[in-house]
Amino acid sequence: MNFSVRFWGVRGSIACSGPRTARYGGNTSSLEMRCGERVILFDAGTGIRYLGKTFDAAGRALDADLYFTHTHFDHVCGLPFFGPLFRPENRFRLWAGHLGNGLTLRRVLSEFMMSPLFPVPPEVFRASMEYRDFPAGETLRSGDAAIRTVALNHPDGATGYRVDFGGKSICYLTDNEHVPGAADRSVLALIAGADLVIYDCMYTDQEYPAYVGWGHSTWQEGVRLCRAANAKRLVVFHHDPEHDDDLLDGIAGEVAKALPGSVVAREGLVLEP
Ligand SMILES: [Zn+2]
Ligand SMILES: [Zn+2]
Repeated sequence: MNFSVRFWGVRGSIACSGPRTARYGGNTSSLEMRCGERVILFDAGTGIRYLGKTFDAAGRALDADLYFTHTHFDHVCGLPFFGPLFRPENRFRLWAGHLGNGLTLRRVLSEFMMSPLFPVPPEVFRASMEYRDFPAGETLRSGDAAIRTVALNHPDGATGYRVDFGGKSICYLTDNEHVPGAADRSVLALIAGADLVIYDCMYTDQEYPAYVGWGHSTWQEGVRLCRAANAKRLVVFHHDPEHDDDLLDGIAGEVAKALPGSVVAREGLVLEP
């Protein structure tokens, strides 16, 4: 059974185009997972526009779950440009686990797609849309995939996911800030023994002290977490817009040495657990 993840956007905070980021890509967070026939999407950064074009070209009706880590701008701004939302034959369930205090995903997206910030509201979507909120920590299901969730350490909250399917597992944890020297037990429990861990590696350990409280982590912390949890491979993700291709090449060499099989995410990359 096919189980894979494809990266459509790997950048953190803001999209960045140009020759210095062309090889790894400048689009913000967007993942496409396949669990057999099932399509599971994560986040709707600018990368999701390109994913949408492949679905539109395929011409088949789409029934999919879209899980948000959270609703910061870089993770939702591609949503109004995701073509499949405008086709009545499609069906989407949109999920978020980080809201509370009376906020719902539907309300947050309505307030983001609101004039004069944006010309049209979510009601312009013609697909069947369901908006579902859950408390991070719950286990969800999408077809035959089990999806465990955990609350991450991030301003306004965020949710980490672990997808188990056919005896393999892929984890997706961004945006998340670590506490140096004190590994997060709930994160370790979520990624225990996982095959693939896609992790917030916005900074390096050398850069991190200048960004305490900004809500992000480092690739070195990703390696430490994977080692401590016996997870097999780390995928460096949510790249700082200031990290150009040459710098990411350097990280790719170091992370492969530190934890063999580990890679730096780039647009177009497809991985199987
Ligand atoms: Zn982000
Ligand atoms: Zn964020």
